[in-house]
Amino acid sequence: MKINVNTIRNDFPLLQRQVYNKPLIYLDNGATTQKPVSVINCIHDFHRFKNSSIHRGVHYLSEQATEEYENARKTVQQFLNAAHPHEIVFTAGTTGSVNGIAFSFGERYIGEGDEIIISEMEHHANIVPWQILCERKKASLKIIPFSDDGLLQTKELDRLITPKTRLISVIHISNVLGTINPVEEIIRKAHTFNIPVLVDGAQSVQHASVDVQKMDCDFFVFSGHKIYGPTGIGILYGKEKWLQELPPFQGGGDMVDIVTFEKTTYNRLPFKFEAGTPNYIGAIGLAEALKYVSSLGMNNIMAHEHQLLDYGMSRLNELGYVKIYGTARPKSSILSFNIKGVHPYDAGMVMDKMGIAVRTGTHCAQPVMQHYGIEGTIRASLALYNTAEEIDALVESVKKVKTMFG
Ligand code: PMP
Repeated sequence: MKINVNTIRNDFPLLQRQVYNKPLIYLDNGATTQKPVSVINCIHDFHRFKNSSIHRGVHYLSEQATEEYENARKTVQQFLNAAHPHEIVFTAGTTGSVNGIAFSFGERYIGEGDEIIISEMEHHANIVPWQILCERKKASLKIIPFSDDGLLQTKELDRLITPKTRLISVIHISNVLGTINPVEEIIRKAHTFNIPVLVDGAQSVQHASVDVQKMDCDFFVFSGHKIYGPTGIGILYGKEKWLQELPPFQGGGDMVDIVTFEKTTYNRLPFKFEAGTPNYIGAIGLAEALKYVSSLGMNNIMAHEHQLLDYGMSRLNELGYVKIYGTARPKSSILSFNIKGVHPYDAGMVMDKMGIAVRTGTHCAQPVMQHYGIEGTIRASLALYNTAEEIDALVESVKKVKTMFG
């Protein structure tokens, strides 16, 4: 089944609006995605008719909210094909999930002289938490490099893995280059040395089928807002054995069993990691978004986005003065590029006035910019509701920018 983009666009009210009296062309999906009406209604209805704090009340509303929250957890479990619902922890987002594991894993397993491996193409969210941990514990970070076309040099792992390696944390799909990294291969290799692997899925769950059991990752993290769900909600998937062993990363209500001033014992999984009143409405909204994506079919979404990617690559390449960063395959629907002789910010400003929303700058991945010796790129990141006509408009805007600044 092919997806019908025109029908799909009707599901997203924001796509109908105009900016500067021009139809909005939204190509900033790597930063955040727009929301289908089913998600908007779900959140609205919850506030209007069902709101009550979960887990604490015995009254009708609280029980209903608790049931919906726990059903949301099951929806995420099924979406990722995790073995158990209690392997799904609700967090504030990818950043929250990585920081949580960096703290918790760090407390339990990292000591002076230990090593953590990440890659050169990480988002800051998968760099800085590990740096903070390394500073705290006097450990060090090692980096898997990538080649100029954007391919991760996984063979370097033979050199990087040492008896001191405690964890590998790697981006699944690069938010700048679009490269789909061979995480299964990395995990297989890491596991032969009993090294756990965290996969940053912030850019992958919305563009590729993810099966955490097949992938065999130890941790997988993503954000709701990048997969057509609300902001302020994210997922930390962890294998049961890790979540059992790791200490909590936040203390407070709900994550405890018995509290005395002498000693506190913790709640069972996954509640041990969900201190305080959680973002239950966000969790329920995220589950609605996952249902929406599932109803379209990930294979259909992928086919559509790949077609757009190929079209965009060839149209931009035709111009002769555009450099695309990240040409290695397999690649997701992210087009990072620069126009010869034009600063990306200038380009972004002109595109904006044409109604085109692209991101310009370093995309929270300054080491990627350092790799190429550039200040930033223009990034058009495509989603299931984008069209070939929108790519054409992007190309026209590039031509206009070139005549203005080039
Ligand atoms: N990792 C990657 C690959 C990302 O693209 C992003 C968001 N740009 C993040 C982590 C951080 O996600 P969030 O800001 O939702 O926590």
